Amino acid sequence: MDSSNEPDDFLPEALRFRSPQPLVDIGANLTHDSFKHDVDAVIHRARHANVDTLILTGTDLAHSEQAVALARRHAGLYATAGLHPHIADQWSDELGQRMAALQRQPEVVAVGECGLDYNRNFSVPRHQEGAFEAQLQLAAESGLPLFIHERDAGQRMREMLKAWRDDITHAVIHCFTADRETLHGYLDLDLHIGLTGWLCDERRGHHLRDLVGSIPLTRLMVETDCPYLLPRNLPAKLKGRRHEPALLPWIIREIAHWRGMAEVDLANATSATTEAFFGLRELAHHHTTSSQGAGEA
Ligand SMILES: [Zn+2]
Repeated sequence: MDSSNEPDDFLPEALRFRSPQPLVDIGANLTHDSFKHDVDAVIHRARHANVDTLILTGTDLAHSEQAVALARRHAGLYATAGLHPHIADQWSDELGQRMAALQRQPEVVAVGECGLDYNRNFSVPRHQEGAFEAQLQLAAESGLPLFIHERDAGQRMREMLKAWRDDITHAVIHCFTADRETLHGYLDLDLHIGLTGWLCDERRGHHLRDLVGSIPLTRLMVETDCPYLLPRNLPAKLKGRRHEPALLPWIIREIAHWRGMAEVDLANATSATTEAFFGLRELAHHHTTSSQGAGEA
């Protein structure tokens, strides 16, 4: 709490843009180095923009642990715990055991970020598939949903998920950017879809604009994936900024535009879908009841 750090310092009056309804950012990389000096102010600005719930992305053991620690310090913050496909080479049985232990913490609401990325192949596909398979197993055992990254691997992803579909509860393909066929394949597998500001990019998000209307509202969630993917629909004065959860309402605006619906309705629908997906309502209730009399701040 720092009263000298009002959100007004950062956003000029005309550019403050508050969501009409509370939003959930399902992909915030707040343990990224670029947030290390001002993460509390970033969370404060998110609340001010009515982005009141953040799911912090864990991409390896250290960052997942940091995300859990941060979630413990702030109401409305939760974490995922998993190993990103870029660094799938790191997977081992021992790491799997440590991930499983972390995933039992009450702040952890999903297994991930995990998946397949054949775009850059920073880890060879064989290692990516091994690490992903092991994390599918962890999700099956814990009953937690999966937070999945997939790039240029839609075919293999669908094959692997199909084999596991009856054993896992829910899964979201975060930052979906693929084509119509892949989208329908995922929807047929009863998966959820996460959309980022990619859609706001007229250079490469064009194909997504025709697709957003085919995603049922009961499967659609929104995310910044900050500090990455700063939306390109921001007013000139905000361009070039680091992306952060407070800017999520701009992504809602763009999706609502291409779906031809009101922002307030989209905000309500995505928040309801997200609460159900991660079980947030029950968790918030637990937090309230368990912190009563515990003297927690
Ligand atoms: Zn990702």
